[in-house]
Amino acid sequence: MPRLNENYLNLKESYLFSEIAHRTAAYAKKNPEKGARIIRLGIGDVTRPLGKVVLEALHEGVDAMGKAETFHGYGPEQGYAETRNAISAYYKKNGIEVDPGDIFISDGAKSDTGNITDLFGHDNVILIPDPVYPVYVDSNIMCGNQVTYIAGTTENNFLPMPDPSQHADIIYICSPNNPTGACYTKAQLKEWVDYAIANQAVILFDSAYEAFVSEPDLPRSIYAVEGAKKCAIEFCSLSKTAGFTGTRCGYTVVPKELVFQASNGQEMSLNAMWNRRQSTKFNGVSYIVQKGAEAVFSEEGIRECQENIGYYKKNAKVIADTLTRLNIRFFGGISSPYIWFECPNGMESWECFDYLLENIQVVGTPGAGFGESGKNYFRLTSFGTYENTSEAMKRFEELFAGKN
Ligand SMILES: *Cc1c(COP(=O)(O)O)cnc(C)c1O
Repeated sequence: MPRLNENYLNLKESYLFSEIAHRTAAYAKKNPEKGARIIRLGIGDVTRPLGKVVLEALHEGVDAMGKAETFHGYGPEQGYAETRNAISAYYKKNGIEVDPGDIFISDGAKSDTGNITDLFGHDNVILIPDPVYPVYVDSNIMCGNQVTYIAGTTENNFLPMPDPSQHADIIYICSPNNPTGACYTKAQLKEWVDYAIANQAVILFDSAYEAFVSEPDLPRSIYAVEGAKKCAIEFCSLSKTAGFTGTRCGYTVVPKELVFQASNGQEMSLNAMWNRRQSTKFNGVSYIVQKGAEAVFSEEGIRECQENIGYYKKNAKVIADTLTRLNIRFFGGISSPYIWFECPNGMESWECFDYLLENIQVVGTPGAGFGESGKNYFRLTSFGTYENTSEAMKRFEELFAGKN
């Protein structure tokens, strides 16, 4: 009998989305008429189709695979040079130098943020924000690591800051944050970078929502902060940027400056280790998808992506304006597709879920699903249609007017 990885016993049952689906279906079955009115604003997936230049590039990729002269087998381990160069040029447009040799193309940021634990030992002090994207906590629990939560609260605007009296070795940061939509300023990120350097720690920076950042003083990359290449790995994804949730492509930057000493005094490069890890356990992203990804970063590609993001942002504004009028406190919604609001009248998040479902047939995501600190909050997303979002907000106005 195999001995199993019993760390899996320590995972919390991930019932968030199944519980939402279950409660929604049960309600619709009991109330067929009202069930037909349900609007889903809990969705964490994009809905706008791929841009035209991306589609063209994907088609070209497919055609190339059909001819012996242009057929592609296994690609270069880190990704095609053209794709990595296009990403490096995209960084440059935002004023940041990233060496294409530090970029690794992958099938998405979920795999990379989860797999990165392969590079680290099991006795690190690991800081993880709460609430946050659950992958960081679960991937650490799966390999037996202890984690220390750093709480997001109304006091810190859901942007936990370093505590100089506490040592850390590994720090996860998600900015703009899923689920809170909160986004660190450059000055705040500099505090984290200074803290990481003082502690010889590594920052694992998830920038999956960088393309949503529109406020000028908010950085889209940790490398906007001087010194960050000495302490930070950055994860990016085309999922929310370019609607690639189903197409699959992301990229991770592991600067060659990230060199640490092993216990025997030998120097180890995280870039070399990640290269070894990926070339051992991952065989790259398809040529076709990398052609599409390259097109995302062309001038026209960026314009098309921003058009879709603009559509989502219009939804976010409708939600934000409504909550403002109703005097419901919220975070996010400007440089993020997420709106994170405080459940009115002291409700807990699952209570709020039932209340909204039963009274106005609007479905969102209870904050408790993202960590203990989310239990009195609720996430709405702007990934629905404009019509549905506006209708849902009309119902919010009727439900909460004068009641909050
Ligand atoms: C959606 C999301 C990702 C992207 O994951 P992919 O695997 O690239 O689709 C990464 N991090 C966060 C915080 C996300 O919300």
